[in-house]
Amino acid sequence: MVVVEGEGQGTPDAIGFGEKLLGLLETGSFTTSYKYALLLALLDETLERTRPDGSPPTVLSGRELGRRVFELYWRQARPFADAGPLRQSGMRDIVVKLAELRRELALPEHVSVDEARRRHALEVRRVERDVVATVIRYPIPRLQRFVTGSQYVEDRFVYDIGWSEHVTTARVHRADFDDRLHLAPRAGQHLIALSGLLRPVVEREWLRHVARRNEHQVEELRLEAFLFGSQRVSLEPVMRPLLELQAGRCFYCDRERDGFEVDHFLPWSRLPDDRLDNLVVAHARCNNAKRVALAGLEHLARWSQRFEPGSRIDRRLTEVAEATRWPRHRARTAAGARGLYLHQPAGTLLWAERQRVEPLDADRLREVLLAGPLAAEDPGTYEPR
Ligand SMILES: [Zn+2]
Repeated sequence: MVVVEGEGQGTPDAIGFGEKLLGLLETGSFTTSYKYALLLALLDETLERTRPDGSPPTVLSGRELGRRVFELYWRQARPFADAGPLRQSGMRDIVVKLAELRRELALPEHVSVDEARRRHALEVRRVERDVVATVIRYPIPRLQRFVTGSQYVEDRFVYDIGWSEHVTTARVHRADFDDRLHLAPRAGQHLIALSGLLRPVVEREWLRHVARRNEHQVEELRLEAFLFGSQRVSLEPVMRPLLELQAGRCFYCDRERDGFEVDHFLPWSRLPDDRLDNLVVAHARCNNAKRVALAGLEHLARWSQRFEPGSRIDRRLTEVAEATRWPRHRARTAAGARGLYLHQPAGTLLWAERQRVEPLDADRLREVLLAGPLAAEDPGTYEPR
């Protein structure tokens, strides 16, 4: 291939940025699904690095992105519908390696990646390290290429890096390897602002990519749930302790009665965060009514009490996390909340209760998010190790 220098087109506005990003999905410099995984990892990592003042990060870690890609494929390497794992490329790719690992360790389907890391630290770390190096060497240097015919134009409109695709695995594994991605001006802001629009499109394209490569008559909805859905059944272990924490009441309507399920406070479809602080117990009917909407500000204010260090609810959550061995990462979850809420335009409809939505009140939002406990949690600026 011949490299053509990208034209300096200045900083695109949000819409221009989004269109360019979607343009990457259509051009063919990849035969694997890695670009979809990397794009989703970029969206999530940027959201979860939102600073306490609401500003986006300027630097991301290649290793962190690699770990996120590992987690995304972890779920996808399960057997699909009694067949083996789904094919995602013609080669021995990340999915194949993860499927082999799962088989080798004889892991049941629902075992989460955190649980696997705990049970088989050495084996899982070895493959994870391998995947991280693959992500740093392969999709990260190639993502921002627009292919036309036998040429490509590289346009670093999302991030700049200090290595090329020719970097060796040995080099990547060295402790002094600089894995930083420097986000282009405003790129962090655009990624956060557009995340709600981009995520479903990227997932859809990924789904089509997998469906094309797997001939069995795949029912797309089942495939979608398989690839991207939350494994609700795996949330069972925290149901009872969380319900106790909520005094047996629904998080949203504050009523008793049964028919409870575990809900992601920040909707899973907007940010896949399965950690304890993002989980609440709600009636199935309240949960179904809320669906992918962001919860109203009074719900947000109540939820934010979890982030008050040393508060009763924080201590109880720590106990639950220890008893169930469920992961917590308060700073990441809080940053995700800031990223998701602060970039909603004023007037966005938030879900208040069944049959009632409320327009977003920007002043009240800033009060809840930037003056309350959620602002105290800092995911930190990424520094190379
Ligand atoms: Zn309810």
